[in-house]
Amino acid sequence: MSQVYRSTRSDKPEELSFEDVVMTGLAPDGGLYLPSEIPQLPSNFLETWKDLSFNELAFNILRLYINESEIPNEDLKNLITKSYSTFRSEEITPLQKINDQIHLLELFHGPTYAFKDVALQFVGNLFEYFLTRRNSKKLKGEERDIITVVGATSGDTGSAAIYGLRGKKDVSVFILYPTGRISPIQEEQMTTVEDSNVHTLSVNGTFDDCQDIVKSIFGDKEFNDKYHVGAVNSINWARILAQQTYYFYSFFKLQKIIGNNSKIRFVVPSGNFGDILAGYYAYKMGLPVDKLIIATNENDILDRFMKTGEYAKQQEIGVKATYSPAMDILISSNFERLLWYLIRDNITDKNDEKAGSILNDWMKQLKENGKFTAPKEVVEKARTIFDSDRVDNKETIETIKETYTQNKYILDPHTAVGVRTTTRFLKKDQEPINYISLSTAHPAKFSEVVNKALDTFENYSFEKDVLPDELKQLSTKEKRIKLIDEPSVSKVKQAIKDELKF
Ligand SMILES: *Cc1c(COP(=O)(O)O)cnc(C)c1O
Repeated sequence: MSQVYRSTRSDKPEELSFEDVVMTGLAPDGGLYLPSEIPQLPSNFLETWKDLSFNELAFNILRLYINESEIPNEDLKNLITKSYSTFRSEEITPLQKINDQIHLLELFHGPTYAFKDVALQFVGNLFEYFLTRRNSKKLKGEERDIITVVGATSGDTGSAAIYGLRGKKDVSVFILYPTGRISPIQEEQMTTVEDSNVHTLSVNGTFDDCQDIVKSIFGDKEFNDKYHVGAVNSINWARILAQQTYYFYSFFKLQKIIGNNSKIRFVVPSGNFGDILAGYYAYKMGLPVDKLIIATNENDILDRFMKTGEYAKQQEIGVKATYSPAMDILISSNFERLLWYLIRDNITDKNDEKAGSILNDWMKQLKENGKFTAPKEVVEKARTIFDSDRVDNKETIETIKETYTQNKYILDPHTAVGVRTTTRFLKKDQEPINYISLSTAHPAKFSEVVNKALDTFENYSFEKDVLPDELKQLSTKEKRIKLIDEPSVSKVKQAIKDELKF
């Protein structure tokens, strides 16, 4: 079957290719791209896939979403091998036992020690693959296809983008961050990369200033036409796709430990809903997951939706700065994709165009009134597979402490939000259920919070117990930073022009 893609907000038939959706990112109508038909697993996959390596599983899964005519088998295999060769663990995403019922899925063995590497290592290679192919067809003297990725980071996600795109042909990357407001390790990670296509702009302002500048650059048609500004934020379909592999991989691993008949749930520390959405695709393809549990911090729009059916932005309250900053969001951008499937399944004739039109209407309400309410049937449909909980700062710290004393394991604050949620669900269970709690970052990346939780323990030392050698060495490397002395769009644009020299 040929796989095609469409926008969540479109009310017309659309048949876009995988390459189109990856290279475009966001649809021109403001929607997100998705496959309207989710491919189904081969009927014997539980038997035939259970012993496959991470890369072999990735190939089988991705093959179902990307037509061979777009990426032939050999090329897809090479892209996968290249993407995961940068990981420190042979298993790529190993499972770590915490106790009989909780296993952590460690997603932080990539180059920047955070889960976003799993997707961004692949996305970088994919960009290069498509650009190289396009440019090889160009005639002499014809303009080359390029991408200039521009993004803002509050510290955590910029480095994953940089490490995904470093050294990629015809790709340049500019990451803006607020001067003095990100941790030293985060700054070192971003600014010590030597590749000439990587540029870090330290902007004398706030994270919001950085984001506004990026938005304004995206809106500048003339600048865009010239530099082909692209984004690698979590709405890119390729990211969701690449994240599906670890749901399968960890599911098979755990089944081998606990037996085939035990129920398995995933608990996912969530912000923009990209990580857990990959789990939803795995489930819809046929992976027999019992539940997907959304764990939010105090920015709890997803938890509120699951409980009430109201999706409300709470603009007046604003984003709360929590101990798990990578989950500090007002709305969850990828939730729109889930809503589309739920709406479509709720229409009698399962019509894609009608689903797009309804969703478009909800998104308008969200924009105009800051909220919308989903019909009961849609919320109930969501509840058949999703559940949720919310964890505050105090509980995050407590969980890091408890896991350290009880399990001799140091959690990062995002992972702690998931583990707290997991233990709460465990206490309610009437039967033994097994949990895979996703670990989304290495604790060294969030030293301040981890130290706040553990400094009172006499034997604890951040340098000795948490900080990996590789990150220690970063402080000895030379930093490359371009300072932008005020949050000015024109100064940032000028800096980009100066670097690209055309
Ligand atoms: C991005 C991120 C998350 C949240 O993932 P979403 O896909 O946005 O839900 C959680 N933890 C860490 C460390 C992250 O970087």
